[in-house]
Amino acid sequence: MKKPHPSIASSTSEMKVKKRIALVAHDYRKPDLLDWAQYNKDILKEHELFGTGTTGRLISEKLELPVHRFMSGPLGGDQQLGAAIAKGDLDILIFFWDPLQAQPHDVDVKALLRIAIVYNIPLACSRSSADFLISSKLLEKPYERYLVDYGARLEKLATKE
Ligand code: PGA
Repeated sequence: MKKPHPSIASSTSEMKVKKRIALVAHDYRKPDLLDWAQYNKDILKEHELFGTGTTGRLISEKLELPVHRFMSGPLGGDQQLGAAIAKGDLDILIFFWDPLQAQPHDVDVKALLRIAIVYNIPLACSRSSADFLISSKLLEKPYERYLVDYGARLEKLATKE
């Protein structure tokens, strides 16, 4: 992978071969995620799986694989996932959010998507992007994830005020 210019990213976080993959789906998107996960079970079983409460349970039951479960999304699970990303405890997020229905926890959904970008983790929100992600050659090797250096920008913003 080409390294970004040092002014863009000055630090990295190492992903191991075994990736920590978080799976989340809103209710109407759960059948799609479950179907996708079943199809990709042989790949997923090589990694460590995480999920929000209901999604995690359904995936674990269908695939008969262990899934670390956070709380249900509307009860704080999305926020827990976001915190785990910020702590460096998750490598990849597959998040099938519902484009047709507002969620009671929309603010948490937005926060989770935002934090995935802040920490530059691979993020797939549609089945086709999840297909590309899961079939990436990078999944089979360690990967240096660059952490964009937002500190300088935040400092600049602070001194403007
Ligand atoms: P759930 O949460 O897996 O507990 O249904 C998903 C979400 O709404 O974020």
